[in-house]
Amino acid sequence: MARVALVTGGMGGLGEAVCIKLAALGYKVVTTYSPGNKKAESWLGQMKEQGFDFRAYPCDVSDYDSAQACVRQVEQEVGPVDVLVNNAGITRDMTFKKMDKPNWDAVMKTNLDSVFNMTKPVCDGMVERGWGRIINISSVNGQKGAFGQTNYSAAKAGMHGFTKALAYEVARKGVTVNTISPGYIGTKMVMDIPSEVLETKIIPQIPMGRLGKPEEVAGLVAYLSSEEAAFVTGANIAINGGQHMQ
Ligand code: NDP
Repeated sequence: MARVALVTGGMGGLGEAVCIKLAALGYKVVTTYSPGNKKAESWLGQMKEQGFDFRAYPCDVSDYDSAQACVRQVEQEVGPVDVLVNNAGITRDMTFKKMDKPNWDAVMKTNLDSVFNMTKPVCDGMVERGWGRIINISSVNGQKGAFGQTNYSAAKAGMHGFTKALAYEVARKGVTVNTISPGYIGTKMVMDIPSEVLETKIIPQIPMGRLGKPEEVAGLVAYLSSEEAAFVTGANIAINGGQHMQ
C-alpha cells in the first residue's frame, strides 16, 4: 500500500516541488492551504493537468484546533499519515527596533507552533505502527541568524531544537525526525526580495553563485522519507550552495 505523505503549504514554491517529487515516487500526497486561499482550486486543476491527483485540505497550521481537524479529516478520507513535511512558513522581516508583537507572534506561530500543531496528531500513530518520517523545513537563517529576521531566525532555530528532542523520544520506534535547512531557493518568498538586494547582497554570499532550486530540496525530502534514510535522525541537513558550512 502506498504510504501517505502530508506536506503543509504544498501550494508554495518549495512545497509544490516536494509534492511532485513524493507523488512521482509513489506516495499518496496530501497537502494543505490556508483557509481563504482562493487559488487552491486552480492549483489542484493545474496539477491534475500535469498528471498529479493531489488532495488538499484547508488548514491554518498556526492554529492548534485547525491542525487537529485537518489531520483527522486526512486520516478518515485518505489514511494514517506516514510522512509529515512541516513546510508551511512565512517571513515578516524588519529590524528588531521596528519589530512589533504581532509580527513576532505571526512568525513564531506559523513557523514554530505549527510544527507542534501538526506533529501532535500524527506522531502517536507513527509510533504505534512502528514507522514514520517527520521532516521540518527550517532555514540557513535559523543556523546563522540574519539581519532583520529576529523572529524568523528564532522560529527556524527552534524547529531544530524540537527535531532533536523528539528524535530521542521516538528513535526506537521506527520514526525519524529531521530538519532541512535550505539556503536561498528561487521561490516566490525569495523572489519577493528586491532584485538589487538579491544581486548585490545575497547571491555574492553563495559560493555556488546561484539560488537553489526547489527540486534540489525536494530530492532531499524524498531521501529523508525513504527506507534508506532509516538511520538518519535528529539531523539538520544544510542545502545552501556552500553559503554556511558547519
Ligand atoms: P512560499 O511562500 O512559496 O510558500 C509558503 C507556504 O506556506 C504557502 O503554501 C502557504 O500557503 C503556506 N502557509 C503560510 N502560512 C500558513 C498558515 N498559517 N497555514 C497554512 N499554510 C500556510 O514559501 P517557500 O515555498 O519558499 O517556503 C517553504 C518553506 O521553506 C518555508 O517554511 C520557508 O521558511 C522555508 N524556506 C524557504 C527558503 C527559500 O529560499 N524559499 C529558504 C529557507 C527556508 P497559502 O499560500 O495557502 O497561505
